[in-house]
Amino acid sequence: MSNRIPDSFEAVLLTPLGRDAMLAADCLRMAGIEAVPCRDFEELSARVRAGVGTVLVTEEALTVERVRAFGDLVQEQPAWSDLPIVVFSSRLDTLRSRTAHLQELGNVSFVDRPVQRRTLVAAVRSALRARQRQYEGRRAIEAREQFLAMLGHELRNPLAAIVFATDLLGRGNADNPRLAKYTATVERQTRHLHRLVDDLLDVGRVTSGKVTLKREPVEMAALVRRSIEAHQVMAEAHGVSLIFTDDGTPVVVDADVVRLEQVATNLVTNALKYTPRGGRVAVRVGREGGQAVLSVQDTGLGIAAENLGSIFELFAQAPTTLDRARGGLGLGLTLVRTLVELQGGTVAADSPGVGLGSRFQVRLPLVVVDVVPASSKHGFPTPMPGRPRKRIVVVDDNADLREMLAELLGMVGYVVEEAGDGPQGLTRILSVRPDVALVDIGLPGFDGYELARQARRSLGDSVLLIAMTGYGQLDDQARAAEAGFDSHITKPVSLEDIEAAVAAPPSRSAPPAA
Ligand code: ADP
Repeated sequence: MSNRIPDSFEAVLLTPLGRDAMLAADCLRMAGIEAVPCRDFEELSARVRAGVGTVLVTEEALTVERVRAFGDLVQEQPAWSDLPIVVFSSRLDTLRSRTAHLQELGNVSFVDRPVQRRTLVAAVRSALRARQRQYEGRRAIEAREQFLAMLGHELRNPLAAIVFATDLLGRGNADNPRLAKYTATVERQTRHLHRLVDDLLDVGRVTSGKVTLKREPVEMAALVRRSIEAHQVMAEAHGVSLIFTDDGTPVVVDADVVRLEQVATNLVTNALKYTPRGGRVAVRVGREGGQAVLSVQDTGLGIAAENLGSIFELFAQAPTTLDRARGGLGLGLTLVRTLVELQGGTVAADSPGVGLGSRFQVRLPLVVVDVVPASSKHGFPTPMPGRPRKRIVVVDDNADLREMLAELLGMVGYVVEEAGDGPQGLTRILSVRPDVALVDIGLPGFDGYELARQARRSLGDSVLLIAMTGYGQLDDQARAAEAGFDSHITKPVSLEDIEAAVAAPPSRSAPPAA
């Protein structure tokens, strides 16, 4: 059955002797119940997939293979469906093994034969009533999801306008400290509202299975470390210390980078939100029993044992937090659980009790590092076992790019130093005397060509100088060679480009013709 809620309340029947099914169907019809005898299991399957109220089946129709096929059919049902199956049986002893399997199908009831007309009608009516309640429950949930999605969209447009207007106000008020302060408050609160609206929209899409994940090998420790760095300002504002630790080994999982970040962010934000000033939030990434584990532990409000089971439910909030002082809609943990499960993992919460802090642990299957392609943007690049650690200086004024590159090079075994402009870059290169320097051309202070000339004059051939530029024209390459660079790579650079440039013999002696 598709995720659609069927209108059907029909009872479908399967018996090896078509005559039995006909008789039972007649009997049900006389009681006002729509009943359809099926010729074979294929017809029954087709009807179940289209949506039925209940399935009636006799024990003779249930060979071992058939029970298995029934199991597959039930598995195909959407999560909200609990298809009632009524089995007519007289020789329960001979059925014992099948009965055990049958009970795994969920909503199975047995009616002993010979079946009285009254018993048949009563059993089918009760199965159909249960089914009706499922349909109603599902319809109510769908209506709520549609409402939330609509609400989210309706709130988004005015919010977008407020964000633009605040931005303009902020620019206009830069020289008026009082107004600039008010504008900053509006901006901060609008951003908070924006996040809530995004969560509202997201939770609707994620829980109704409308989100597709872009999974790839991701090094979780680096990802979480970045997220923690981004939360330090918030932690300071809350007066809570936020600490990150890892095992120092790569923890690679098959995940969607954006969604995994969302999981980490939600857990860390909650920990900061529910920990009073002076508290501590410890985040750790490691491996345990063949799994990657992200643990977020705080010294905050804690969670009472009776609430631990329900906090992952949609809109659930523990009574301790209902003073509303901390805001929130009770969506974050539902998102966390759904996103973690979609990526093949689990999440659990534990707490010694109210006031004693909480711990949230996400477990995801580990990916074997060797199979990760070195080119994977967010993946862990193949490490260099046993290779002596080369020193490299990265000089680039784009801080994001520089830090990412430094992290990546650190992961493959380089000892990395960074600098953000020409003069600092030169000082760093002359003091570190690295094996390799990776230098951007357009730099504040003086450019990469000047840096290369001076570095070469002081250090001779002891350093491998690689230029990084935005353009790959031949005269760029020629100028780089003239300035003393050994090679030249074009942005966006990949790790392979750098490795290839490091491995290649210096090409300075033969610069390409301009
Ligand atoms: P929200 O924080 O918006 O209420 P969540 O789904 O993120 O919604 O969390 C649900 C509830 O779980 C919270 O209202 C709070 O009661 C409880 N909770 C979540 N994280 C923590 C934590 N670190 N410490 C104590 N309680 C928590």
